Amino acid sequence: MDKVCAVFGGSRGIGRAVAQLMAQKGYRLAIISRNLEVAKATAGELGGNHLAFRCDVAKEQDVQSTFQEMEKHLGPVNFLVNAAGINRDSLLVRTKTEDMISQLHTNLLGSMLTCKAAMKTMIQQGGSIVNVGSIIGLKGNVGQSAYSATKGGLVGFSRSLAKEVARKKIRVNVVAPGFIRTDMTRHLKEEHFKKNIPLGRFGETLEVAHAVVFLLESPYITGHVLIVDGGLQLTV
Ligand code: NDP
Repeated sequence: MDKVCAVFGGSRGIGRAVAQLMAQKGYRLAIISRNLEVAKATAGELGGNHLAFRCDVAKEQDVQSTFQEMEKHLGPVNFLVNAAGINRDSLLVRTKTEDMISQLHTNLLGSMLTCKAAMKTMIQQGGSIVNVGSIIGLKGNVGQSAYSATKGGLVGFSRSLAKEVARKKIRVNVVAPGFIRTDMTRHLKEEHFKKNIPLGRFGETLEVAHAVVFLLESPYITGHVLIVDGGLQLTV
């Protein structure tokens, strides 16, 4: 039977790099994002029998139907990566409620919904989940209180779920990246931030992806938060 890995947010950025590594390792991939065309292009570039699905993780109906479709076309999903995420950075007093809600719904509720949907299969067969958090969820940052809340919440959620389902041979871990070169950070001036990063640069998506794949495949690690930030945590 194929090893099937669903990567939410797999069309671009960190999720895309995870999908590349997992494809190289022989997994069958489901590449999932809101933009089906971009997800299809990514799935096609992986060079195997991988499939793309359109889903907004903030919508429960989307998540449920996507799992049904994935299981129909790929078989049971035994590996899950939650890399879908957005940021709407601003000082709290200027943050619109709708921006708080969209970050909560995408970054936190979305991962909760995909994990819940994945349980149906994983409870029977075991499984491995990696949720992509953020160093900001652990350390906090000016202008990112709402985003930080979603990512801090993701740690509490993941560690609780890890305890809840360990006896079913399901593992749940978190990777917490620092500044990584993706569309999300494209507008940031690296020169301005890198003085706080001991390794002196933003990270690459593949450098995070290696950590995600390590946790996906580590049979005796669960409830862990693996920071991949070039040492940023040491200075902020
Ligand atoms: P990108 O913006 O490059 O990619 C985001 C991905 O998530 C895309 O595939 C996007 O596709 C998808 N996505 C966004 N919203 C939704 C949604 N509602 N439903 C389904 N898919 C969605 O971001 P990164 O790769 O940089 O970020 C990936 C994760 O890593 C995020 O959770 C982010 O918070 C986190 N992170 C990133 C850091 C960085 O420096 N880049 C640092 C720390 C954490 P589409 O738009 O088509 O839906």
